[in-house]
Amino acid sequence: MTSTATSRAFLLEHPGPIDATPLTLSVRPPLVPDRHEIVVAVEACGVCRTDLQLVEGDLALHRRPVVPGHQVVGRVLRAGPGASHRIGDRVGVTWLAGTCGRCEYCVAGQENLCLSAVFHGWDCDGGYADEMICHDDYAFSVASDRSATQLAPLLCAGVIGYRSLEIAQVTAGQRLGLYGFGSSASLVLQLAKLRNIEVHVATRNPVEQTRATALGADSVGDLQALPPAPLHAAITFAPVGSVVIDALRATRRAGTVVINAIHLDEIPSFDFDLLWHERSIRSVANVTRADVTGLLEVDARHPLRVEPHLYRLSDAPLALRDLAAGTIGGPGVLIP
Ligand SMILES: [Zn+2]
Ligand SMILES: [Zn+2]
Repeated sequence: MTSTATSRAFLLEHPGPIDATPLTLSVRPPLVPDRHEIVVAVEACGVCRTDLQLVEGDLALHRRPVVPGHQVVGRVLRAGPGASHRIGDRVGVTWLAGTCGRCEYCVAGQENLCLSAVFHGWDCDGGYADEMICHDDYAFSVASDRSATQLAPLLCAGVIGYRSLEIAQVTAGQRLGLYGFGSSASLVLQLAKLRNIEVHVATRNPVEQTRATALGADSVGDLQALPPAPLHAAITFAPVGSVVIDALRATRRAGTVVINAIHLDEIPSFDFDLLWHERSIRSVANVTRADVTGLLEVDARHPLRVEPHLYRLSDAPLALRDLAAGTIGGPGVLIP
């Protein structure tokens, strides 16, 4: 694999409305890995709603400028002397960029809650670029024959969906509701059907309802419509607080509503009766490396269906504008 003389990267310095082009394409010298780092030549980088929230300022920047992007598939271009991955290895890179390994959460196997966790595209530069640096311990080996553009969206939407499903604790024969039906929800639907869980998809978008049925949903309906029978658990994906109430209304006694969102507007006040009978509401924060390997193992046995919408790297602002406008069905993926 040859080294390029320079590489391109989108820098985010001053967040603002995506129409005001807050991202600038810059050219930089080749990246140099530290001892335990690798440099990954980006084959594909997924476009996530979290990227949009950072670019538009809904999530405060942790450093500036920063290169967004946290679902990357690529090949190792350069490796530090202490790295276990070798030049040419195919790897996946996710949101989690590093944890301390010592805090009470890391020690308890909850590294997703680490008090000093760092994240790609937020605390360190991400994959809206030709190449990116990743700590060797936070890069995952992926199969050479799996399409990079199919795999990239799994590395955030799929992994956080996998974690949400674990937290929802639904088992075969039980009923799960999915509220909102974007990239992550369509992957959770497939994961749930592999576990023989009955799935109800709630979305106001008729195109998404049709897509959900095609992917195996047992029932579909509007957000406020009650499912055919009360749900054992629901996962909300739409970034609006009212959806949490819609989901809570549809769950049975002892049911759980899992909120799959890093940023949510206010949850409207609701009658305590909706929460009564031991119902609960939980958030999902970040992912552990075990979640990533768990999802990749499922995908290796049963490749998950993804219909990516491809953009050239230079069109990253357009990909984010399309995501904001909701004009594309599948996940956006940047390719060189
Ligand atoms: Zn993401
Ligand atoms: Zn920690």
